[in-house]
Amino acid sequence: MRYSRLFIPTLKEAPAEAEAVSHRLMVRAGYVRQLAAGLYIYLPLGIRVMEKINRIIREEMNAIGGQEVTMPVLNPAEVWQQTGRWDTIGDEMFRLKDRSGRDMCLAMTHEETMTWLAAHDIRSYRELPQIWYQVQTKLRDEARPKSGVLRTREFTMKDSYSFDKDEEGLDRSYQLHLEAYKKIYSRCGVRFHVVQSDTGMMGGSMAHEFMAPSPAGEDDVALCDGCGYAANTELALSEPKASPSPSMTHEEVATPEKRTIEEVTRFLKVTPDLLVKSILVMSDKGPVLALVRGDQTVHEKKLAKLIGPHRPAQKDEVKSALGVPAGFIGPMGHKIRKIADGVLKKGAYIAGANKDGYHLKGVTADKDFSDAEFADIHTAAAGDACVQCGKPLRIEKVIEVGNIFKLGTKYSAPLKANYLDENGNERPIIMGSYGIGPARIAAAAVEQGNDENGITWPLAIAPYQVLIVPVNVKDARSMDVAEELYTALEERGFEVLLDDRDERAGVKFKDADLIGIPWRIIIGEKNLKENLVEIKERRTGTVEKIAVDRALEAIEKKLVMEV
Ligand code: ATP
Ligand code: MG
Repeated sequence: MRYSRLFIPTLKEAPAEAEAVSHRLMVRAGYVRQLAAGLYIYLPLGIRVMEKINRIIREEMNAIGGQEVTMPVLNPAEVWQQTGRWDTIGDEMFRLKDRSGRDMCLAMTHEETMTWLAAHDIRSYRELPQIWYQVQTKLRDEARPKSGVLRTREFTMKDSYSFDKDEEGLDRSYQLHLEAYKKIYSRCGVRFHVVQSDTGMMGGSMAHEFMAPSPAGEDDVALCDGCGYAANTELALSEPKASPSPSMTHEEVATPEKRTIEEVTRFLKVTPDLLVKSILVMSDKGPVLALVRGDQTVHEKKLAKLIGPHRPAQKDEVKSALGVPAGFIGPMGHKIRKIADGVLKKGAYIAGANKDGYHLKGVTADKDFSDAEFADIHTAAAGDACVQCGKPLRIEKVIEVGNIFKLGTKYSAPLKANYLDENGNERPIIMGSYGIGPARIAAAAVEQGNDENGITWPLAIAPYQVLIVPVNVKDARSMDVAEELYTALEERGFEVLLDDRDERAGVKFKDADLIGIPWRIIIGEKNLKENLVEIKERRTGTVEKIAVDRALEAIEKKLVMEV
């Protein structure tokens, strides 16, 4: 392709609201444009990247026996009502009515319709297993669309679904996906971790996420270099350092107007790990008191797993539940349901005394809140010990680029996706569901591959593999060499962009760095006098001078070596 014929609207400045590096660079380098919040236009370069990622995904899905299908984006409400998700999913689902007033929605995922298909067309164990996938549009009215294409309201997802006759079959389908996913991200040149994750709104019994390390990520994972333990902090277990736990007598101390952990620790001259943090939340079944050590934070999702959806109690709710103002509440002397972090089982602490202006010293689980349910509800932090091997954990910010779930019969049961087994008995199909966000792979690659001048794409997903830059297009010899290399490389099946624009060298090089094509052949008049051209690697900046008649062979070697 000739640069002059390709629409690459590069920009000097990134949009003011763009914070994530991938957002800034993909807009500046002319890959995408934002139409409205969470709605993106893909420009020619952007499409090429997406197509390359999707091709890799399709190849690996086909390799595990996946069969491509496509589901409608517009769905009737009925299938979603049958699984209950019409009601449990809130504002994230775009809903509408058709002309005759029937409830419809725009699919945010396709468990329902895929299971509908299985219910209608799979009869017998002989037709199992199946893996069906699509690479298709999803719509979600995300609460906070942000970070460019990382979280959009309309996006492409590769979603696949496995249908097996038993748990063993599901294990196999799950494992096939796990291995295929690893290949996909590796081939795309993205660094990633495979971590245990929460089953969330998908339901089911086991889930893993594929997480690409990046400061733009919205998830945190806990990682152990000792034994390889890796989990989303939504469920990561950890052993915080033990608190000093000096001996304390059981006595009230006046702490007038000292409500927060910080105020109390400063006033009493103690460290926060000697305090109990008592947080009253309102669940569907009434108030619940969550207890963690003063230096820890409650993980919302861990707590939600135990008590369901909840919100922080308001001041008047605290007062009416416990009879004291917020800031002085503690675990003793009341019957409110208590969930205490496991760390609090040991040691003596200072907690709110349930008395205005007082805290209580020497509080222990045995004496003061033996009626609590103990569970790991704190957020794993860097330096906490790994529960498997005791080594310190690391916490890393990551982008979720994909996930896999064991669903079991969560969807097949309500949608009656059954099959007849060898003995003629009707059984529910055992399912799994597996998602990948190709746009997130692209953005993660940019997050992990960039420098102050622009993007440094991995070769496999770069929009072009080679950029040929004749510095002066008015110089006939330069253009001859450029055209010859261009034709020869294209004939050999490489993807080449020829910068045939009549622009200053500075402009061409700036654009080249920004759009980030991995290899560049620079044809300058001065070098040509010595019969030389330059081959430059975008990522390392390394430049090699090569004889004109050896350039083709040299670049070919580099491209093949990297594939
Ligand atoms: P998140 O927790 O980031 O919202 P999710 O758990 O909702 O993700 P899934 O519903 O499992 O994600 O979707 C499968 C994959 O689709 C995700 O792993 C991610 O790569 C991609 N994806 C999900 N939501 C978006 C979005 N709003 N924009 C772009 N890609 C997305
Ligand atoms: Mg989501």
